[in-house]
Amino acid sequence: MLLAVLCAGDGGLSKDTFISNAPVMFNRLALLRIQSSGCIITQNCRATMQEPVLVLNANFEPIHICSTRRAIGLILAGKAGMIANGRGHIRTISQLLPRPSVIRLENQVHRPRPRVKLTRREIFRRDNYTCQYCGRRDGSLTVDHVIPRHMGGQHIWTNLVAACPGCNHRKGGRKVDEAHMHLLHIPKEPPANAAYIFGKHLNENGEWAPYISGW
Ligand SMILES: [Zn+2]
Repeated sequence: MLLAVLCAGDGGLSKDTFISNAPVMFNRLALLRIQSSGCIITQNCRATMQEPVLVLNANFEPIHICSTRRAIGLILAGKAGMIANGRGHIRTISQLLPRPSVIRLENQVHRPRPRVKLTRREIFRRDNYTCQYCGRRDGSLTVDHVIPRHMGGQHIWTNLVAACPGCNHRKGGRKVDEAHMHLLHIPKEPPANAAYIFGKHLNENGEWAPYISGW
């Protein structure tokens, strides 16, 4: 069955738009592509369909973030149920669906305990966007190998810290004590709990908070 998914707020749609089963010319809306699932997504819908949705395991543990498009696909396939919405609606040919914000999988997914990905961005976030040598927060940050690579220092959480360009330059290719510097904190791998992993999304998605805390 062909299913047209249109944002309720798009406007400019006549009743006829929803009658035909064939791809129709949408007034003011460019037809972007026909999804393998049979959904037609309009260009105006695209940003909406990319908005993040928190995915809970069957036991309510938050495990993933997916796009609204994917979340709707899971709901329509009966693989997930909506737990929270509040983002308006999405119109399909036959119904008006609340736009999901949090969904829950019907079947429990077994997976290894998550770890925080080792990236520059995550190193800066762990270090609270602060140079770990002088404590400065303003300006650009670099990543410093506490034990320099040419001395065998590894590219691992416990050997990487955020450093301002000045401190990184001053330390150079030396160890911390050789450079007569000191670290504000001993670098550790960040906790892999949900609050840490998903907490960075709470500014834009405050309604996720009760589903994230405690995991
Ligand atoms: Zn510094």
